[in-house]
Amino acid sequence: MTKPPLDILLCAPRGFCAGVVRAIDAVEQALAIHGAPVYVRHEIVHNKYVVESLKKKGAIFVRELGEVPDGDAPVIFSAHGVPKSVPEAAAARRLFAIDATCPLVTKVHREAQVHHKRGRHIILIGHAGHPEVVGTMGQLPEGTVTLVETVEDVARLEPVDTKDLAFVTQTTLSVDDTREVIEALQARFPSVVSPHKEDICYATTNRQGAVKRVAPQVEAMIVVGSPNSSNSQRLREVAEREGCTLARLILRAEDIDWSLFGSIRRLGITAGASAPEILVEEIIDAFAERFEVQVENVSTADENVFFPLPRELRDQAVG
Ligand code: SF4
Repeated sequence: MTKPPLDILLCAPRGFCAGVVRAIDAVEQALAIHGAPVYVRHEIVHNKYVVESLKKKGAIFVRELGEVPDGDAPVIFSAHGVPKSVPEAAAARRLFAIDATCPLVTKVHREAQVHHKRGRHIILIGHAGHPEVVGTMGQLPEGTVTLVETVEDVARLEPVDTKDLAFVTQTTLSVDDTREVIEALQARFPSVVSPHKEDICYATTNRQGAVKRVAPQVEAMIVVGSPNSSNSQRLREVAEREGCTLARLILRAEDIDWSLFGSIRRLGITAGASAPEILVEEIIDAFAERFEVQVENVSTADENVFFPLPRELRDQAVG
């Protein structure tokens, strides 16, 4: 039986960013240098496949530091960053802590600290409960950072001092939604201090840029990624906003609902910053079983960002 044709437009850049590569490398290097077990606080990056692969190699994932036994085994903090209280608690227990916080998240932490030192109240644009937001708010004393998620939140803001305000943002937000929130903030508080350089990171911006190019050209878009991955969720929203009404976040090929994709002729595929390329290939293979597939790479930016391993591992790195 002849298969129906399907054009796949593959967004580029997609998938792993430099912060995710570094965080996964940190766990693998810690295992290679120090042996198992290596404890990891929270999912090192938001992807079940990555987490399960590292578990098989000897990583033990914990929710809180209290679950890590005393001893010499390394404990790694995830790419999303942690509140200051976490490394402090690790130091108090003399645990061997390795901080895999993405340098671009650390940059936001530093900005917030500088604003605080200068006496400014900080508005953080981000999503409540996301580990990065918890980590950024946890850099400073309670009450010194106010979280806003939407333009409506900005309208409701009642800061004590409206003159000494600054804002920072989560790194993985929607570029367009955030612009609207920033404009609302600047309209309400004209003297609010902005970041010198955009806090939304290069990887988030580039992946959204590629989806914007591809989404209007396809009938459906698959974003390879986890439901708890902020940047993956934003890619799905960007596709919808650009007119692609059938946009789905899919973890693996086995999760594809074929009743949705059976009659399409043009499909876009991208992957969140924590989704490995092997899962993209798996999904293309699944489509190739049912369709005569033609794959076209649609590239909107070149990336050559690299972050060195965390300091605690740099000198001993193997391989
Ligand atoms: Fe770092 Fe951006 Fe990747 Fe997050 S998405 S780990 S901020 S490079």
